[in-house]
Amino acid sequence: ASTYVGFDSITAQIEHKLLKRGFQFNVIVVGQTGLGKSTLINTIFASHLIDSKGRLAAEEPVRQTTEIHPVSHVIVENGVRLRLNIVDTPGYGDQINNEGCWDTIIKYIKDQHSAYLRKELTAMRDRHIQDTRIHCALYFINPSGHSLRAIDIIVMKKLSEVVNVVPVVAKADSLTLEEREAFKQKIRAEMTYHNIRLYPFDTEESDEEEIQLNESIRTMTPFAVVGSDRSVIIDGKTVRGRKTRWGVINVENEKHCEFVYLRNFLTRTHLQDLIETTAQIHYEAFRSKQLLALKE
Ligand code: GDP
Ligand code: MG
Repeated sequence: ASTYVGFDSITAQIEHKLLKRGFQFNVIVVGQTGLGKSTLINTIFASHLIDSKGRLAAEEPVRQTTEIHPVSHVIVENGVRLRLNIVDTPGYGDQINNEGCWDTIIKYIKDQHSAYLRKELTAMRDRHIQDTRIHCALYFINPSGHSLRAIDIIVMKKLSEVVNVVPVVAKADSLTLEEREAFKQKIRAEMTYHNIRLYPFDTEESDEEEIQLNESIRTMTPFAVVGSDRSVIIDGKTVRGRKTRWGVINVENEKHCEFVYLRNFLTRTHLQDLIETTAQIHYEAFRSKQLLALKE
């Protein structure tokens, strides 16, 4: 009995602490108006809010987004309760002059860093700080089948200076499977050409395995997604879907779109790394700049 050190109870304690502290993961959606940002948020949450009786949570129709506002729910992933916070933003790109339209979004992200730093400088060492820093920006690309727009390049570059950027092809049901694959390849090539530094990053410390993993993520992005604010019943199961004259698109069917890949990426496989990268790269860059300015 003397060899028993109680690791299981330690895990339970850590988990309890995380729960009490409100373990939080913050995502923001960015892109042109009408690309389905609000609908996708609704779809992500709906896929988690199936209650014990297998019913979907109440359907709320998506309205036009007029301001930056967070939508928040507690979900369970890998047996851990997590507060998933998705920040919705009004679209842009529909004005004749789009100059500076992304400023409010960049400012919102920086404001969260700034609030965290302020609390860090005043908090007692062991006091927990509520974390509203944005861990991931989903950038919505118009499914034109042609190429990125100039504004996409500008906004993704701006965003990548302050946050982990993950691109998605919006409304992927408007492209055929071949068009979708060709478009994804084209987008990846353009992002490389324009030197847009997206998540994940290779660092000097990355080992062979991490570099491989990062590469495999890059070949999956941009995730081609479909969203819906309607439930459909497929094989007796209630899921989000889009009914068309030709049939039903099940957002959770991997043959129909990459929604499930995106969801796994966000809430399972890369959650921890997105949080760490935010703290170690984006927040750290902000923090050292601010502290340097204080000294001068
Ligand atoms: P937002 O302005 O980016 O927030 O876009 P909304 O979520 O308000 O969606 C705009 C319109 O596009 C609505 O009529 C949605 O029903 C529709 N829509 C949203 N997602 C999809 C999708 O994946 N495929 C298709 N075909 N339509 C979509
Ligand atoms: Mg919206």
